[in-house]
Amino acid sequence: MAKKKTQKKSARKTTARKSPAKSVKKIAKKSGGKKSPAKVTRKGQKKTANGKMVYYFGQTRTDGDGSQKQLLGGKGANLAEMTSIGLPVPPGFTITTEVCDLYYKSGRQLPKGLMEEVHKNVAILQKELGKTFGDTRNPLLVSVRSGAAVSMPGMMNTILNLGLTDLAVVGLANATGNERFAYDAYRRVINMFGDVVMGIDHEHFEEAFTEIKRKYNAASDTDVPSQGLIELCDAYKAVYRKHTGEDFPQDPMAQLSLAIEAVFKSWMTPRAVRYREVDNIRGLKGTAVNVQSMVFGNMGEDSGTGVAFTRNPSTGENKFYGEFLINAQGEDVVAGIRTPQPVEEMDKWNARVYRQLLTIKKTLERHYREVQDIEFTIEKGHLWMLQTRTGKRTGAAAVKIACDLVKEKLIDEKTAIRRIPANDLTQLLLPSFEPRAKARAEVLTRGLPASPGAAVGKLAFTADEAVERTRGGEAVLLVRKETSPEDIDGMHSAVGILTSTGGMTSHAAVVARGWGRCCVAGAGAITIDARNRQITVNGKVFTHNDTLSIDGSTGEVMAGPVGTHAPELSGDFATVMKWADKYRILKVRTNADTPADAQRARDFGAQGIGLCRTEHMFFEGDRIQAMREMIVAETVEDRQKALAKLLPYQRGDFVGIFTAMKGLPVTVRLLDPPLHEFLPHDDASQAEMARNLGISVDKVRNRVAALHEMNPMLGHRGCRLSVTYPEILQMQVRAIVEAAIECKKARIDAKPEIMIPLVGTVQELSKLRALTEQTIEQVKRESGSSGKLDILIGTMIEIPRAALTADAIGEQADFFSFGTNDLTQMTFGYSRDDVNTFLPDYLAQEILEQDPFQSLDQAGVGQLVEMGVTKGRMAKKDLKCGICGEHGGDPASIKFCHKVGLDYVSCSPFRVPIARLAAAQAALA
Ligand code: PEP
Ligand code: MG
Repeated sequence: MAKKKTQKKSARKTTARKSPAKSVKKIAKKSGGKKSPAKVTRKGQKKTANGKMVYYFGQTRTDGDGSQKQLLGGKGANLAEMTSIGLPVPPGFTITTEVCDLYYKSGRQLPKGLMEEVHKNVAILQKELGKTFGDTRNPLLVSVRSGAAVSMPGMMNTILNLGLTDLAVVGLANATGNERFAYDAYRRVINMFGDVVMGIDHEHFEEAFTEIKRKYNAASDTDVPSQGLIELCDAYKAVYRKHTGEDFPQDPMAQLSLAIEAVFKSWMTPRAVRYREVDNIRGLKGTAVNVQSMVFGNMGEDSGTGVAFTRNPSTGENKFYGEFLINAQGEDVVAGIRTPQPVEEMDKWNARVYRQLLTIKKTLERHYREVQDIEFTIEKGHLWMLQTRTGKRTGAAAVKIACDLVKEKLIDEKTAIRRIPANDLTQLLLPSFEPRAKARAEVLTRGLPASPGAAVGKLAFTADEAVERTRGGEAVLLVRKETSPEDIDGMHSAVGILTSTGGMTSHAAVVARGWGRCCVAGAGAITIDARNRQITVNGKVFTHNDTLSIDGSTGEVMAGPVGTHAPELSGDFATVMKWADKYRILKVRTNADTPADAQRARDFGAQGIGLCRTEHMFFEGDRIQAMREMIVAETVEDRQKALAKLLPYQRGDFVGIFTAMKGLPVTVRLLDPPLHEFLPHDDASQAEMARNLGISVDKVRNRVAALHEMNPMLGHRGCRLSVTYPEILQMQVRAIVEAAIECKKARIDAKPEIMIPLVGTVQELSKLRALTEQTIEQVKRESGSSGKLDILIGTMIEIPRAALTADAIGEQADFFSFGTNDLTQMTFGYSRDDVNTFLPDYLAQEILEQDPFQSLDQAGVGQLVEMGVTKGRMAKKDLKCGICGEHGGDPASIKFCHKVGLDYVSCSPFRVPIARLAAAQAALA
């Protein structure tokens, strides 16, 4: 059971860790340049703070700027900013997020005065462009897009070509001299408006299109002639009428007001709400609405559209990186419907525009001092910028980009440290494929390296299947033609994502990168048969029961499981760690109980062991038998005999660990779990134990029954064991001291510290401290060791009473280590092992913001930690204080530990680099 307990703990870690984007909430809060909470006027009519609901951007004037993400959304704020720095941006206006807030607060109604303000801004836009809504010569057309302060790719609504009516379509044909194009745009808006605003199922429009294609014998959409599209518009209008009972609105302003409302509504659709939950995005007012004059990438072979990152978002390489499609609208690239061309190839298509884009890359990076993710459209050879935002990147790219920007003198070291989300380092610390295993692997095909990492799993064909099988303990790869926002739960559950279409900026790629999930996209050689749950690659069939391995850094798809190995810290990563160490005040130790873990943590920069749990040491080989012998012993002598068998093992363990950590402190915690965890609970194993120990099965059963506890976590464990069975403490202390002496003889600088767990009263500690000191002295005497052997004796603060009486306990302790796993359990009264039965409900209903076992509850448990430190240091001014609960590796908790003045945090070996960076970020906050 002791093993089970740890397994449970790690399972909890993996299943409950929701997303790498924990810091979003803070970003959301911070990035809102000008806060303007909604006010209620005397008449009770809710209003925005300064009454202004619409912000214009264009040549006439630009009202907003890039700092106003909270108010204008990321997209709106950056459109204003790009306009101000002279980039070519189609003019338009942004309706603020406060209006969205008001919309919901007033029972889903557009606030009074909004449409008047919209009218005024439309008038400015018309004047600036010399176009009017509904005009028969040159009509104004706009796009209507959502845009919250934090980007939520593909989650909310967009409507293009708005403003087209029976009259305006004639105007568009006149203005462009292209009737086919005009009616194509018209049928698109009827479809999009019908679908997004009025909720008409897209299939009904598809049926009408199929009918027209049949009539004109057209193989694809583009083969339908102008006349066919004119008829299609009529057919679409009929579909619209049939399903809404109304005509497609012929007043552009009416279209606009409905579209604005549809965008606000999309803020609360289940998929958007779920996305925010998964990404822990909270505290936003709503979405802004961007109304922007249309530019067309689908006006012919001299037009196109694309998306790009100013640097490679997977690797961080300083190379313009993106994709474009000729003669297409923006949505076609993002939706992954057609596979686009790499942006470098644009040079051959239109060198002037390509050069202009490269110049804009530089301008944007110099201006924002940050990597940008841009969207652009080329209309008849003229380049227009439609969006810029901070580029989401993998952990590896974040590190490289931060280092490169420092080299380029665009940012300083401190900014670089602040910019790397500490949790994203996990991606660099994840295993990659073992080169020799990979060399032997059968590569089935190669897709696009959309998000790095090594993923090995069985094939799941739907999001639901991925979620379910993951819950059942399987590692699965989600295999889809392409993913859509509905798939996010499955994408999040899967160890990796594999798609057969779509590019580097498809939905799957963008979302996977944001989460640091391994993804290979656009593996076109794979044919997916989701119904029969199988895929075919180059004639080979793989079913849901087969395992594949995907390499998100190279795009390779390999048959079977391929071995993985742990990463190393070098290059830019080492640089970032060096910078972090320069600024952090907190020390970082590790929780390790084997020499291998200790060595790994040391390689990752651990400055000692903060928690060496000794219980795991009693399971291997013959040890468990001696341990069981000790547990069933009926006399002290028999117990001592059994313990004597364990002593050499323990001593050997400690020699190994002290050697791996030579020169650094190692906090060894005395036995903690209840003894029944070491006994078997099923009949067969009990019979085997009886045979091995030469005792009756009944004796074993009786002992198991006697040790049974209703509530073992609050039972006979921790220091309570040493009170009842002092010989256990004596054996462990002896092993520690003898190991230290042995190391010393071998000139290995061992620095053990002895930690007494689960103390709740000072009397427990003073009694056990005395026994520990006596044992140390006795061993020293026996071994004739003359040299100095300073062994600190401290305690864990993991029971609320210990924190409350920390001044008294501090008198007896050389150090405190906060065991925030138990402290959280006992402060909330939530069982660590059973919390998952209700925690998901608590999170969904926002009773809790986050799992308190993952991120320290600062308001409650945090108070006890702070009190423990303060009171402990009242007893001893310089009392060394650390934390060794799981929270020691969580960046938000580390920030708190820094604030309350702990000396160190201790976490699992793989989180050591994360903790080093988080500690520096805390110091620089
Ligand atoms: C703790 O309670 O925080 C702790 C580190 O001890 P364990 O998890 O072993 O109970
Ligand atoms: Mg504990």
